[in-house]
This record gives sequence, C-alpha cells and structure tokens, in this order.
Amino acid sequence: MGHAGLVLTCGYPRCRSVTATKAHNIRVREIAVRQKLKLSEYGLFHAKSGKKIVSETEEEIYARLGLPWIAPTLREDRGEIAAGLRDELPDLVEESDIRGDLHTHTDLTDGLASLEDMVTAAAARGYAYYAVTDHAPDLYMQRMTDAKMLAQRERVRALDAKHRRMRLLHGTELNIGPDGSLDWPDEFLAGFDLCVASVHSHFNQSREELTRRLVRACENPYVGIIGHPTTRRIGKRPRIDADFDAVFAACARTGTALEVNAHPERLDLGDEDILRAKRHGVKFAVNTDAHSVTHLPYMRYGVGTAQRAWLTKDDVINTWPLQKLRRFLRPRTR
Ligand SMILES: [Zn+2]
Ligand SMILES: [Zn+2]
Repeated sequence: MGHAGLVLTCGYPRCRSVTATKAHNIRVREIAVRQKLKLSEYGLFHAKSGKKIVSETEEEIYARLGLPWIAPTLREDRGEIAAGLRDELPDLVEESDIRGDLHTHTDLTDGLASLEDMVTAAAARGYAYYAVTDHAPDLYMQRMTDAKMLAQRERVRALDAKHRRMRLLHGTELNIGPDGSLDWPDEFLAGFDLCVASVHSHFNQSREELTRRLVRACENPYVGIIGHPTTRRIGKRPRIDADFDAVFAACARTGTALEVNAHPERLDLGDEDILRAKRHGVKFAVNTDAHSVTHLPYMRYGVGTAQRAWLTKDDVINTWPLQKLRRFLRPRTR
C-alpha cells in the first residue's frame, strides 16, 4: 500500500512499482474533480481553497472518494472503479491460497536439483501437494524412457510415504507434437496422477495447424493442464500465432485447465489472455515450472498475473483441496 502519493505518480503505462497505470489515475482524478477536489501526488485537496483533506494512506484517499481500497494489481482501468463503486471488486487469489505447484522438474531431465531436494523445498513452503512433471521422451535431448519414468514413480511414491503433510503427485510434461499427438499412448498416460501438455517445437506452423494442435491436446482425456499456452519467452520469442479463443473454448468444453506459468521469462498466460479465457469458463493452474529450488518462489509472480486478471480462488485449481483437484484431473470421456 505505502504512501498515498504512490497512487498518483505513475506516468508510465503498466508500471507497478508505483502501483497504478496512468489510465487508472486519470479515472480516480476525474472522480475527485466531480467532487470539487484535487488529487495530486501530495494528497487530496479542496479544489478552491487548496486545503489538504487526506494524504496518509491509499485507503483514506479511496474512501474519501467513495471507493473501497483497490488492489494495485487491479489498477488498470479495466472496470475496477465501476466495480468498486458497486462494491463488487473480486476477492483476489493470494499466494497464501496456493496449496501446491503442479508443474516442476528435477535432474532426471533438465532440472538442476534432485527429486529429494525439490520435494524438501516444496514441503518447506508449506504445500499440501506437489507434482513432479519431468519431460516426456519426444523432447529428445532429455533422453526420457518408459523405464526411467516408472523408476521415478517408485521414488515419488516412497518419498510420499515419508511426508506427513504433503502429498506427492507423479506427473509428466508432455510434448504436443506438430499434429497434436502426445509422447505416450493413453495406456501409459493413465499411470500418471497428472499430465501437463505443452508446445516445445514447430512454433512457426500455420495458425490453423497450431490451433488444431492445441485443441487436440485438450481433447486427450489424460491432459489436465496446457502448459505455458502461448510459448512466449519475454524479450526472446513471440507467442505462437494460434486462434486462442478456439483453444480457450476447447479448454472450457473438455475441462482442461490453462497454465499461468509464473516463470518471470514466461508469465504465460498473461493477464489479458486470462481475462479472455475466463470469459469462456476456463479454470487455471498457477505453476512455477521450477527447474531448481530457487524457482519455487516464482509462484508470487504467477499469482500477481492471476490477480491482474481478477482471478479468485475458485478459478485456480491449485488452491483447491486435493480431493477436488483429483476430481478435476480425473480422465473424462470427452
Ligand atoms: Zn515446457
Ligand atoms: Zn516445464
């Protein structure tokens, strides 16, 4: 929250270090003007006399203008002021609501830490569940085999028995092939607690091919989550050119969650896509895609992205109790 002036100083679009976009500030100042007040970076003043009214906290300033406190992640001029005036601001998902991470790697593939170290670090975060989802064999450089995956499952089951408060899920991150097919046949996929499916290659296919590919992955009954859906790497690789409205509709229809990948180089989906997907009725999983123990705290960036898209706990499957999560992930006849 911080000093009241912070509400007002941001001149840069999307800059959050000063808590609000310019568009949001303009809206708030308009409300002040209508009430014959003047809002500046120093506080709220009477327009005529220049007498200071409030300046200490953001709550005071919003309250004097007839608004509830609006979370910094909502200060985008996307309807938050109208919703605030109606007292209909969403109860945003928070990092403390997250019960587990559903997309993580170990040194069995390209992670840097051992299974044991990752699980210990996850337990230290207080998670109720944690999924290990190493790469499947079609990402050739990872040299995954059926035998390696099954051996890891044994280790995960043994570790699970050692942890009292945290349940371990054995999953995998599948590769969505150029035609939408996946690494393993359904019989093998049925052995996992959770399958994340992601695009890792052939980024330059036609829009139709990319769309069809993602939709086909959603239609596989064993796929629970589409990982980093647009595949963008911030500053490195643009998003793939798929018809995401068609993909979001397929997710809603098949009960497949979309990932909000929390890695700071990805943040994928981003807030605008999440808003669109939510309108289709999609659920989300906020995951770190951790490749080392130091990546597990990236969760906060994913939650921040989810907040900017107005997500609540109900929208995010990894805030749910394990039983409800398992029901969601259970293979369906789609
Ligand atoms: Zn991936
Ligand atoms: Zn991954």
